[in-house]
This record gives sequence, C-alpha cells and structure tokens, in this order.
Amino acid sequence: MRAPLQQIQTSSELPQSADAVVIGGGIVGVFAAYYLARRGMKVVLVEKGRIGAEQSCRNWGWCRQQNRDARELPMATRSLDLWERFVADSGEDTGFRRCGLLYLSNDEAELARWARWRDFARTAGVTTLMLDGAEASERGRATGRPWKGGVFSPSDGTADPSRAAPSVARAILKLGGTVLQNCAARGIETEGGRLSAVVTENGTIRTKVAVLAGGAWASSFCRQFGFRFPQAAIRSSILSVSPGAEGLPDALHTAKISVTRRDNGGYTLAISGRGRVDVTPQQLRFSSHFVPMFLKRWRSLAPGGLQGVRCGHETLKLWRLDQPTPMERMRILDPVPDKATIRLTHARALELLPALRQTRISAAWAGYIDSTPDGVPAIGEIDAVPGFFLAAGFSGHGFGIGSGAGHLVADLVTGSEPIVDPKSYDPRRFDASSWGKVADF
Ligand SMILES: Cc1cc2nc3c(=O)[nH]c(=O)nc-3n(C[C@H](O)[C@H](O)[C@H](O)COP(=O)(O)OP(=O)(O)OC[C@H]3O[C@@H](n4cnc5c(N)ncnc54)[C@H](O)[C@@H]3O)c2cc1C
Repeated sequence: MRAPLQQIQTSSELPQSADAVVIGGGIVGVFAAYYLARRGMKVVLVEKGRIGAEQSCRNWGWCRQQNRDARELPMATRSLDLWERFVADSGEDTGFRRCGLLYLSNDEAELARWARWRDFARTAGVTTLMLDGAEASERGRATGRPWKGGVFSPSDGTADPSRAAPSVARAILKLGGTVLQNCAARGIETEGGRLSAVVTENGTIRTKVAVLAGGAWASSFCRQFGFRFPQAAIRSSILSVSPGAEGLPDALHTAKISVTRRDNGGYTLAISGRGRVDVTPQQLRFSSHFVPMFLKRWRSLAPGGLQGVRCGHETLKLWRLDQPTPMERMRILDPVPDKATIRLTHARALELLPALRQTRISAAWAGYIDSTPDGVPAIGEIDAVPGFFLAAGFSGHGFGIGSGAGHLVADLVTGSEPIVDPKSYDPRRFDASSWGKVADF
C-alpha cells in the first residue's frame, strides 16, 4: 500500500498568463506558491500528478534543527517558525507540532559528535539538551534498556506528511491562486533570452517567472534547455504500523531504527540513511560528482535494480513540447519498496520497542530522495535564463525546511530581503566544482 495522502479538489481552468508559474506540487512548490500568492502575485501551480504524492507524503515528517549542517541550520530554524505561523495565518492544519525529537545512543563517538553539534548550535541560538545515561534511559524507557546518553531537541517537531502539502495547496486556492493537478509542465519558452512562458500538456501560460520545484525530475527538466544540474536519487523504503502501541516517544532516533508517531496514533518506522541506488543514465552521467557523497554514505547504501530507468525521471532524452513527455507517463513516482529493508526495519523496531508488538503493518512504501552532490539544496535563479528559478535537490531534508525554502524562493523572485542568506544554496556553485563538504542526512 502507498503512503497515505489526503486527496484535494483543485482548479480546472488553465490561465493564459500569470505573474509566476510554480512547477511541482511537493512541499517546496506549494510553500513557494503560497508565499508568492501572499505577496499579491497571480500564481499558477502545475503538478503532473497529485499534490504531495511524491517525496512529500513519503517521509517521516521530521522538521528538525538537530544535527543540521551549518549551511542549513538558519533555514531549519526559520522554517519551524513558518510552519507554526502558516497554521495561524491560513487556518489550515498541517499537523505540525513542536513535540521535540529524542536521540539515544550507546556509542561514545556518536555522543561526542552530538555534544560538538550542541556547542555549535548554541552559537546559533539553538537549544538542544544533552542527556546523561540516567536521563536518556528515563526518556527512552519504552525501550526497556539502559542508554549511555542522548539528545532531546525541544524546539523541533513533526508535521503530517499525508496532509501537509494538500493543506498548503488549499491555502493557495483561498488566496486566489490556481492549483492544477494532472498537468505536467513540458518545458519553457524564452524571448530575448528571458523566460516568457511555461508550456504544459494543457496549454501555454505566459509568464516572466517560473519556479521549478520538481523534486527528482528537476535535472532532466533542466537538461531540456541545456542547464546542467547534478542530481541523483536514492530509493528509501519505510513502513507504517497501526495504532495500539502506548508510551512511545513521539519521535525517536537510534542508529538501528527511527520511529515517528503518526496523526492517527500509528507509527512510521525507518532505518536512517539506508537506501538503494537504482542506476540510471543520469546517475552515470553525474557519477563523478557524487564520489564524496558515496564515500561518506557507502555503508548504508546498496545496489538496486532497473526501476529507476523504468520510472523515467532520470532520463537523458530530450523531448518535444508538443508530445507527451516521460512526466505524463509517470504521473506519480512510486518505486517498489525493498522487501529486505522493510522486514529488517520491522524486526528491529519490535525488538527495540516491545509495545509495537501490539500493532500490525498498515503500509509500506518507497520514495526517491533527490540529492545534490553536497547534500544541500539548489535554490536560486538560473543565469542562463533570467526569470527561471530552481528549488530542488533537498537531499532528504526538504520536508522540514520546505516552508523556509518556499519563503526564500518568494524573496528571491520579488527581490525582497531574503529570509536567510541564500549564498549556500546558489545553484551556480556546481559550475565551479560540485565537490563541496557533504552535509549529513
Ligand atoms: C523515506 C523518506 C523519508 C524522508 N524523511 C524526511 C524527514 O523526516 N524530514 C525531512 O525534512 N525530509 C525528509 N525526506 C525528504 C523530503 O521528503 C523531501 O526532501 C521533500 O519532500 C522534497 O520536496 P519537493 O517539493 O522538493 O519534492 P517532491 O515532494 O518530490 O515534489 C516534487 C513534485 O514535482 C512534481 N513534478 C515534477 N516535475 C514536474 C513537471 N514537469 N510538471 C509538473 N509537476 C512536476 C512531481 O510530481 C512532484 O509531486 C524524506 C524523504 C523520503 C523519501
């Protein structure tokens, strides 16, 4: 069974013109469109499948500052505030709660790393609590075992992946914006070197601004007009269980298993960082860019199969704008979960948290996590096509920072004071070298 997702009714008429067109209705695209609409712009969001149906409904729902890379921490902090403010401003419920995240460990080296991060985070005004053995064992009492230490990050939280993006899309509609589902953008047109239109399967929208928030499809889309965006996707497999387990932390991470309470009282179970590499033509093309990333993560990655080729998101083909594209053939990227990972995840979770034995598996799914070579997203205007903005490559962190990323996109489009310094996200960094410091997941 697929990851749960709230279905919503959206617009049916394709406008002929717009102040801005957002391509992709994942969490980044909907927040970008929402913040643009709040500034009074006539916004059209086009989504080739259903709002939120790819990565944005398949994740754990963590919105965290804890252990964030220095380049992303300011955005993570602002994003948490924006998640909170969105509910107050829009009246829509994303399920966001600052429930705090609990990390437990028996590994001295890991505890030392967390302590170093705590010291760094303090300089950025972020409070995180290091737990000694007694405190960690008390907070982790549902495991029924002692722990050497841990971390609790009280200002972090979770939102509900099954309704977050649909809630934001409803807020766009309330502001008078247009949201179209089953409407793929096939490409762009330019006039005098500037963006002049977005071509969709249902017609052309004249516009001076387009934002590509296309997740795992962004690189192949950019290739159509010659922009080189190094991007690769990893298939991550997770599962959910039914309600019935009492007394567990809302969000718990250990090296072996991570557990997150869902809105219905069930839990999402996952192994952090574990994934399969389904080789594709695009991965081969960009493989040299991802060497540092691979060297850092190889222990948790395993070879996959040919699903990535069949899905078509990482094709190297050039397509025509007057014929169906790979995006129309694959409305929702829904890779098959890795059975061995699902079995291992479930077994580890039952072993660590005996209360989960009262539950049953309710769903299992996979998602393609789109990553850049340094694990930091690409957000900014493309020099070669003024008016075209990229917001992709969220590298496994995009749900939590989706609100901040969407706000930053709106700032850049409107030339306002950016909510955070956009330098670290500038897509031009890949022109020089894509071998930057690799961020942790
Ligand atoms: C198993 C898993 C666990 C994760 N856990 C977390 C977590 O706990 N916390 C966290 O912060 N992040 C997490 N992530 C990462 C997070 O889900 C993503 O970074 C985030 O959802 C990316 O959002 P997005 O909007 O960029 O992409 P997506 O959600 O993938 O959305 C892109 C959308 O664009 C559409 N699209 C693409 N091309 C076109 C086109 N040409 N025309 C129209 N539409 C188009 C697609 O259909 C899709 O709906 C996890 C991811 C996975 C898979």
